[in-house]
Amino acid sequence: MSGDPRTDLKGIPLPELESLLSRWGKERYRARQISRWIYRRFAEEFDSMTDLAKSFREDLSCGCRISAPPAERLEASSDGTEKYLFRLEDGESVESVLIPEEDRRTLCISSQVGCALKCGFCATGAMGFRRNLTSSEIVHQVCFAVNRLAGRGERLTNVVFMGMGDPLENLPEVSRAISILLSQFGFGLSGKRVTVSTAGVIPAMLALAKEHLVSFAVSINAPRDDLRSRLMPVNRKYPLKELVAAMKRIPLQSGRKVTAEYVLLAGVNDSEGDARDLAALLKGLRVKVNLIRFNAHECGDFESPSLEVADRFRDVLLAAGIQTITRERRGADIRAACGQLSGMAGGKRP
Ligand code: SF4
Repeated sequence: MSGDPRTDLKGIPLPELESLLSRWGKERYRARQISRWIYRRFAEEFDSMTDLAKSFREDLSCGCRISAPPAERLEASSDGTEKYLFRLEDGESVESVLIPEEDRRTLCISSQVGCALKCGFCATGAMGFRRNLTSSEIVHQVCFAVNRLAGRGERLTNVVFMGMGDPLENLPEVSRAISILLSQFGFGLSGKRVTVSTAGVIPAMLALAKEHLVSFAVSINAPRDDLRSRLMPVNRKYPLKELVAAMKRIPLQSGRKVTAEYVLLAGVNDSEGDARDLAALLKGLRVKVNLIRFNAHECGDFESPSLEVADRFRDVLLAAGIQTITRERRGADIRAACGQLSGMAGGKRP
């Protein structure tokens, strides 16, 4: 993605970095030192890595670099949510969103510029697909937020792949980025605190679940195939029955559940009958449902249902014994809420 021919060391998982360094005739443990500098101390220059010999630092500077796309725009919501727009080296842009809650600091990160899956209610989908992010561009979003939080004495607690793109459409780079999120020489997060959200790309979901013990959130959004295929074209390839069967196969840590995300669209998928059909669909699954009232944006023709309608829908699910919460809307005033990210951050795309 860059004209710089030097190897970008950000985004390379530890085992790969160890192999790279040993091919260059260096000790493998150097990889751990470099990883700590990049992900724990946010070094962007080799010169600052003072526990490496000067001559090694000079060699590294000649052949390698540590990318750091600038956060060109920062917006803060009245509810404390922050949105960052990163300008990537090829001129594209992506957004991530930091959501502070009482006991958590959650970063919602992007995995693609745009998205090919074209869910009808999503601003990112309306952009179409532009390109996959590299693992470096993915973990940089986390570096930026962790560094920013550290500056005010706070700690990032959770990472969710719910920004721009479907992470499972970019499996290799997302998997490498997750290795770094979970590594003790990276960000040291528990898999319980890393959530991968997908529109339902089944083979990649099962492949990732084999590689990493992380949490999964699956966007369901409709309880029947006809409606879901209209809202989410990916359903034509991976219909609900197969999707729910795949959700049952995801290995879960003890006491954990897979999350089913459901965006409520007024008059489309929010009736009590829809809620009953959803309860029947999810029966027997270790699942919790997140209901999200649609966040309006300029790309969609949908409307948000009232709170009463959302509560009725939730109550049907609760009565069926399904753990359900209605997720609070965060950052809607800066277009940072779910489904609103478009890489525009208040302006037009270049
Ligand atoms: S909701 Fe997710 S998968 Fe669907 S178009 Fe938007 S970014 Fe892509």
